Amino acid sequence: MTIVATSETAGALALAQSVATAAYIVAALLFILALAGLSTQETARRGVVYGIVGMTIALLATLVLVVANGTLVLDGASAALGIGLLVAAVVVGGAIGLWRARVVEMTGMPELIALLHSFVGLAAVLVGWNGHLYADGIAPELIGIHHAEVFIGVFIGAVTFTGSIVAFLKLSGRMSSKPLMLPGKNALNIGALALFLVLTVWYVATPSIWLLVAVTALALALGWHLVASIGGGDMPVVVSMLNSYSGWAAAAAGFLLNNDLLIVTGALVGSSGAYLSYIMCKAMNRSFLSVIAGGFGIEAPRSAEAEEGEHHETDAAAVAELLRDARSVIITPGYGMAVAQAQYPVADLTKRLRERGVEVRFGIHPVAGRLPGHMNVLLAEAKVPYDIVLELDEINDDFADTDVVLVIGANDTVNPAAAEDPGSPIAGMPVLHVWEARNVVVFKRSMASGYAGVQNPLFFRDNTQMLFGDAKQRVEDILRAL
Ligand code: NDP
Repeated sequence: MTIVATSETAGALALAQSVATAAYIVAALLFILALAGLSTQETARRGVVYGIVGMTIALLATLVLVVANGTLVLDGASAALGIGLLVAAVVVGGAIGLWRARVVEMTGMPELIALLHSFVGLAAVLVGWNGHLYADGIAPELIGIHHAEVFIGVFIGAVTFTGSIVAFLKLSGRMSSKPLMLPGKNALNIGALALFLVLTVWYVATPSIWLLVAVTALALALGWHLVASIGGGDMPVVVSMLNSYSGWAAAAAGFLLNNDLLIVTGALVGSSGAYLSYIMCKAMNRSFLSVIAGGFGIEAPRSAEAEEGEHHETDAAAVAELLRDARSVIITPGYGMAVAQAQYPVADLTKRLRERGVEVRFGIHPVAGRLPGHMNVLLAEAKVPYDIVLELDEINDDFADTDVVLVIGANDTVNPAAAEDPGSPIAGMPVLHVWEARNVVVFKRSMASGYAGVQNPLFFRDNTQMLFGDAKQRVEDILRAL
């Protein structure tokens, strides 16, 4: 590789760098506007457009920089190789991303997101290793900071990488959603963090490759253990927490690559992910610290004695009869509505009942489905009016005054054990108090438990009737019977 440096090329390079810096500032502002837009349903579409424009500007600016560096600084062959590799990476990555995004089902989104987080983690590890292997040209007074950046970047990246892979395996059902309970698991986590601190100081003093190997192995094991220790019911928080980690991993890579946009974007993702995790922890009555520390302080729950009893089965015609006589109906959808794609007949049923003068409202649990806002997106897609879709806090006191509750494919989010059984693994998680209504109809295919793997005593209550079968078909049957 020959380096050609004249005052003309230096000037042209400086110009390309200024253009790229200006473009990065514009892209960073667009990313902030994108996040602001995504905060409400009405402005979400605009937010997504800001994000796309920002990312396009960022990619073009990077391309300008690479081309300028390649043509002005390197010889022809190295420049062609560098630019060729960049274009090939963008085309192949873009094509795979486009294909996956087009084919992914709404119910498969969380695991896809978890997998994407693992890529960010892996990229941060590779950038860190690269920073170790090519540390030439760094000013002696900055070398200590550089080594700290390498070490911390590799640590965060590796934790994110294996943590996200475990999250992917759990969310896609390839691994049990039950928490892993190794003896002394809290001591293991704290020990790993203490060892990381010692290794960091050691590495900054004597940057040996073996210390980097050691921290990579330590962080890979820690990431795996942190997420494996978290039980099914807490997985939503884990997904947003890994989102946050992936942001910090990207920011760490930004410091190493001297790329301001990556630092800003990483910090935006990191802090918004942390804040979302905090909001979700509050909504689920979980300690934020306990969840980010891999279920710290949560001991193995006693094996919940499954509440057995008789369940009452019903059919579509009887439910139609019940609805005909009802004055007030609340629908509480869950993951099963997404699987069955039942939102369209549910929207038709809502319309039909409202035309008959029945008051129909929806009760949405903050973690219903498999990603934040899952139910709201499905109901908006089926054109259910926003004003009858209420949050848990807004509707929970109204169940006692309700004639019929239709539980459509929800399970954990309507489980009375969370409110009534302190020994239950989901104890303390706020749930929709559907059992207080006069009649409850549960739409599901079997007596199987929900995502958290906990038996649901609701199914055996006297005022509950089970309507078995695919939720979409059963709602269509009710529509016909009406
Ligand atoms: P659950 O996952 O607890 O239960 C869904 C129920 O739907 C199952 O019991 C299943 O029963 C039923 N079902 C599945 N397919 C169909 C179908 N085609 N027709 C009818 N019923 C069907 O759902 P919830 O929404 O109540 O709870 C969400 C759970 O997911 C919580 O534990 C939450 O913590 C977790 N989670 C949430 C995330 C989020 O961000 N929202 C992310 C990750 C996890 P059957 O098989 O008998 O039909």
